Amino acid sequence: MKVQIISIGNELLIGDTVNTNASWLGEFLTGLGFTVTQVHTISDELDLIKKTIKTAMQESEVVICTGGLGPTHDDMTKKAVAELFDVGYKLHQDSLDYIKSLFEKRNIPFSESNYSQAEVPENAEVLFNKAGTAPGMWFEAGSYLAVLPGVPYEMKYLMRKRVAQKLREAFGDIGYLYSHYIKTAGIGESTLSDQVLGDLSDYFENGVSLAFLPSPGGVTLRLNGKGRTKEEAKDNLQKLTDVIYQKAGKYIYGEGKDFSISEAVGELLKEKGLKIAVAESCTGGLIANTFTDVAGSSDYFDGGIVSYANHMKVKQLGVSQDDLDSVGAVSKEVALQMAKGVAEKLDTEIGISTTGIAGPGGGTEEKPVGTVWMGYYQKDGAHFAIKAMFTKDRLMNKERTKMVLLEITR
Ligand code: ATP
Ligand code: MG
Repeated sequence: MKVQIISIGNELLIGDTVNTNASWLGEFLTGLGFTVTQVHTISDELDLIKKTIKTAMQESEVVICTGGLGPTHDDMTKKAVAELFDVGYKLHQDSLDYIKSLFEKRNIPFSESNYSQAEVPENAEVLFNKAGTAPGMWFEAGSYLAVLPGVPYEMKYLMRKRVAQKLREAFGDIGYLYSHYIKTAGIGESTLSDQVLGDLSDYFENGVSLAFLPSPGGVTLRLNGKGRTKEEAKDNLQKLTDVIYQKAGKYIYGEGKDFSISEAVGELLKEKGLKIAVAESCTGGLIANTFTDVAGSSDYFDGGIVSYANHMKVKQLGVSQDDLDSVGAVSKEVALQMAKGVAEKLDTEIGISTTGIAGPGGGTEEKPVGTVWMGYYQKDGAHFAIKAMFTKDRLMNKERTKMVLLEITR
């Protein structure tokens, strides 16, 4: 079943608002077993909205529109739909009562334009919107059309609570798509694909597919499986999952779309009962930040020192001034001393450190922009530093440093 998504709103075209609705809808609808064939992003222009909805309805079984349902004059979607179907408006009393009650609760006067929010084209079935003031609408006219508010929270509410049900009624058992995410680090997309995993096409049966989603932090593998039930879709992925673990196990640090490498490191530290502290120069607190993104990280993360200036490295971490003068801050010696220094100062079993030239300026021939040293120190254990050469992009370099350091820590 084909679906088209239409995102309406001038703010989406001038770059004010990122069109997160379309990506969320793409994932949600794919999950229900639909194939999203097109996403249109268009302005709040009456004729353009009419034309786009009309064509999309001719081409696809389902069309989902978001945005432009507000009470202000620049919101055109409802008018466009009424004109397209050549119908007048009807009042939806439940919506009116609900909108009025919201205004009363918030102690705001109710105006004529708010009244119009409860009016819908005559042929609409109202999708009652408990999450806001603009009701959603459902139309059956050869194909199906859902018209939803642009506010992401309201749109999601209506999709989950109302539209999903309408789609099931319309298409019966539409099946399930299950996505399983495997997270890898320490290996590039092409090496992982060509040399480590190789040809996996034998495993692509029953609608199973595999996608590589690279980011500065590592490559996420997304495995999609289809089935009549969620369980069946999940089961269909088992063979592919097994072979990926067999071939690429050492690069895998976890599963789940939002599982992060700091979470993986945290789990290991917790298991071993160890605590970590971090001394950051070029990452400026990014690693401490990523640890504290994880709820419960106080179990293993004690804190850190952002020692950006050299005198901070000396005073706070006990780095040798002589080494700073002779080999410089971006060096193996300093990375080692920072890692040890922070572990001793914060009295943790493990200390890790970063010192590098994040760029875009400041490099030399010997130490070009993107040169980063990362240190690791474990009380009565390993003590080493590694060098990486990244790019000229400052923020990307910070991100990559974070990933590599956490990967070696793991
Ligand atoms: P309302 O009844 O609240 O006026 P509406 O349907 O008129 O809803 P808009 O006015 O178009 O919606 O947008 C409301 C808010 O939702 C704005 O802050 C807008 O930036 C945001 N928004 C609209 N469309 C999208 C989208 N496609 N992705 C993300 N945010 C969006
Ligand atoms: Mg708008």
